[in-house]
This record gives sequence, C-alpha cells and structure tokens, in this order.
Amino acid sequence: MKDDVVAGHSEVNQADAIIMPDVSRAQEIIATKCKAIGPRYGVFLKRTGELLRQNFPRVFQDMTEENLMNFIAVVDISGGPSRGQMKRLQEYCDGCGWCCSQTSRIVVILEDVERISRELKQKREKLFNFDGKDWTIKQGHPCQWWNPDNGRCAIYKIRPFTCRVWPQTTDSKGCYGLQEMPECRYSVSVLAYRVVEAVKAVSAGNNELPA
Ligand code: SF4
Ligand code: SF4
Repeated sequence: MKDDVVAGHSEVNQADAIIMPDVSRAQEIIATKCKAIGPRYGVFLKRTGELLRQNFPRVFQDMTEENLMNFIAVVDISGGPSRGQMKRLQEYCDGCGWCCSQTSRIVVILEDVERISRELKQKREKLFNFDGKDWTIKQGHPCQWWNPDNGRCAIYKIRPFTCRVWPQTTDSKGCYGLQEMPECRYSVSVLAYRVVEAVKAVSAGNNELPA
C-alpha cells in the first residue's frame, strides 16, 4: 500500500495504540466465517496481516499473530467499504484475472440476465443458469466472456453488476460487504486499508469497533 492511500497513518506508530476487541467475540466471528466460507477465510486474514506488517511495521510488528487476526476480523464485520473507498483503492487491482477465471459460481441479478441476453440477442437460458434461487453465468469457471489471451472481458461495457462492483458485495438490504478472497490483491488491500483507518480512529479516541 502506498502512503498516499493511507494519508495520516504516520500519526499511528505504536502497537499499544490499538485497543484490542473482546477476544472471544473475535474468535466467534472467525469461527462463524470459517464455517460459512471455509478455511480460506483464515488465509484471507493472514494475507491482510502480512500486508499490514510489511507496510506498517512500526504499528503491527509487535502484535501477536492471534491479536492481529482478531483485530482484522472485527474490522471486517464492522461494516463494508463504501463505493468511494473502493474507487480510491482501485489501483490495487493488479489485473490478475482470478475473479473472471477462478470464481466457480458467478451470481447475477435478473435485470442483468435480461439486459445482457437482449444486448447479445440470445435466449437467457443459453447464457445463464437458474437453480430456483439464483441466476449464475452458465460457464463461469473460467467465465465464458473472459479472454485468457488478453485477460479482458468480452462484454465489458455491459458486464453484470456483480462484476462492476467486484470485490465488493451487496446484500438484500443494499449494505456493502467484501468478497473475502485471499487471491485478490484488491480485496486484501481494501481490508488492510480499513484496519489502518480503524487504528487511526481508535488512536484518536473514537473507538468505532464493535464490542
Ligand atoms: S482477482 Fe482482484 S486483483 Fe485480480 S483482477 Fe480480479 S479484482 Fe483485480
Ligand atoms: S462477465 Fe466479464 S467481468 Fe464478469 S466474470 Fe465474466 S469476464 Fe469477468
């Protein structure tokens, strides 16, 4: 992470500036997420921790691994990144193509199913699957529209909403969250950014972390 992304981080330079959240609460969060997502969630936290230690050694080098993982997990569930934060951090997408080539199930909204089918003049059943609950891209691993030669999306201008906001997510209430993908540098960087913001808030006496 570059300094300009986390302007003001130099005000926070001591590990003891961090107020640790309730440990059992943090471990509960990690266990719940590991149950839902799998052990990949632990890897995601670990990658975020590595990025933080590497970029902000004065802040994080003295924290135990367990405390750092707990702190990151609590920040992770304390609300999602805003669209503004995502746009500011967009440069951390390294264009690796993992999201288009390795995501096994790309869920899309009905509006996109209808719009893309109309634009491509194809029947929606030819391009998308419906399992009774969700619509998904029919060939999604790799995505049928991903070009492995140049790493580009063949329908970029009309790509689904899921792809336009990735690695951000939205739930049924419109709240933003983050795809916890350890392979995605963008996603890891966004969470690391949010951790630094939380440390700054705690240091300024504004503890926004949930109890
Ligand atoms: S996986 Fe993440 S870093 Fe890679 S191209 Fe997709 S958004 Fe960018
Ligand atoms: S539609 Fe385009 S952006 Fe979305 S997963 Fe496929 S190739 Fe990637």
